Amino acid sequence: MRLIFLGPPGAGKGTQAKRLTEKYGIPQLSTGDMLRAAVSAGTEIGKRAKAVMDAGGLVSDDIVNQIVAERIAQADCGKGFILDGYPRTVPQAKVLSETLSANDLKLDAVIELKVDEEALVRRIESRVAETVAAGGTVRSDDNPEAFRKRLAEYREKTAPLSEYYQGQGQLVVLDGMADVDAVTRSIETVLENSAA
Ligand code: AMP
Repeated sequence: MRLIFLGPPGAGKGTQAKRLTEKYGIPQLSTGDMLRAAVSAGTEIGKRAKAVMDAGGLVSDDIVNQIVAERIAQADCGKGFILDGYPRTVPQAKVLSETLSANDLKLDAVIELKVDEEALVRRIESRVAETVAAGGTVRSDDNPEAFRKRLAEYREKTAPLSEYYQGQGQLVVLDGMADVDAVTRSIETVLENSAA
């Protein structure tokens, strides 16, 4: 099963992707997580990405395309994968499509979680509060200014992907404002139908 999650930051893509990982035994590929790992490890890519990420901007297509192409070639992606946070631009989607066709693979579904932006800001605030309460470290881009920039980047560069995937007959839009379990159930229904 090869799946893409679309939706603005804070829409719940990561939460839902993690749940599906357990159910289907396929990895969640979060480019945000991979980039944060590169920043922590101090790799060349991490050094180039850090400032852009902290400001809420998008890392260059070339960097993320390369990271993803390398990652999906690994053995644990043999049964499929869930892309969370990639593609984020139409050029990234085109490169992904070429990478998949070159390996005789195709996507099973593209699921967009629709949410309202005011609610997102509240979600981010509570994500920060929960992390702090649990003694965790808050992401350096989880502050209101960077978050607003991430939302603006989403609207400008990522939202056009809905139309792109709709044009390919692959887009399913779900209500990301429903409670977490209800969202999981609607995703599972979509996946059962796409497997049928
Ligand atoms: P995320 O964890 O998905 O919210 O990603 C955190 C940050 O990583 C984003 O704000 C971007 O700076 C960067 N990033 C993650 N995925 C991508 C992508 N596909 N293209 C460009 N930048 C990305």
